[in-house]
Amino acid sequence: MTSMNAKNDRAIWLQGPNACCSVPPAPLARPVRLILLGAPGVGKGTQAELLCQHFGACHLSTGDVFRTAKKCDNAGVSPAMAGALACMQRGELVPDEIVLSLIVERAKCLRCGGGFLLDGFPRTVGQAQALEDLLADQEVELDAVLDYKLPHKEILARLSGRRTCPNCKASFHLASLAPKIPGVCDHCGEILFQREDDRPESISVRLAAYAKNASPLKRFYKRRNLLVTIAAAGAPEETFARTIEALERRLASNHEPQLLCE
Ligand code: AMP
Repeated sequence: MTSMNAKNDRAIWLQGPNACCSVPPAPLARPVRLILLGAPGVGKGTQAELLCQHFGACHLSTGDVFRTAKKCDNAGVSPAMAGALACMQRGELVPDEIVLSLIVERAKCLRCGGGFLLDGFPRTVGQAQALEDLLADQEVELDAVLDYKLPHKEILARLSGRRTCPNCKASFHLASLAPKIPGVCDHCGEILFQREDDRPESISVRLAAYAKNASPLKRFYKRRNLLVTIAAAGAPEETFARTIEALERRLASNHEPQLLCE
């Protein structure tokens, strides 16, 4: 597989169909199209980054779309997006209709010859069904849905030890990736903080909410023979190696997705 030389800024995905990506991905003979699932704390973000570098695909995160809109002044945000941001602020899921309208606007990214890695979408079976229809319209097929798994105890340890830089957003860990000076960002010198949702009392709530939505979603993709479960224990490089091994096995077997009735 190829690796990207220059990083695409994902302008179309992040800002909408009127924007232009500064470095459009080179069309690949075999673009890879994946969905990433995994509870908060499994290291999905890191895997997404490694996978994008490896396959030359774009990281399409719906959370990033909302965070980009949040940075705009109010005048630049549509009423639907303003409603979405209010849901996000309350820690709720954005209604399916709003999320889906954003995805339909960005359908170009799903057809892109560089492939894609969807992260944070779909989150409900309704979204998964709509995505399936949209991809069928675009004559695009998913290669796999990667489901990263980690025991509860380890997720708790990972999240509760995480410290974040408010300035450059770098992430550290008290045990596994400690900053050189305790409490200070290695990159920009800002004081690190613990995200409110990384506090132990919030973590259990987040994990329960994830499990509730993820179980039907996993069943949906399992029935379509697309679900690939990957152990997320150990160092990120180990998880990445397991992912590539599983994917290469799957791509080599020239897998044809089975469409079964729900
Ligand atoms: P994330 O970065 O994926 O955790 O997303 C951050 C927030 O954006 C979530 O807590 C939701 O409020 C919202 N969000 C992102 N993706 C979706 C989605 N597919 N469906 C509903 N809400 C979403």
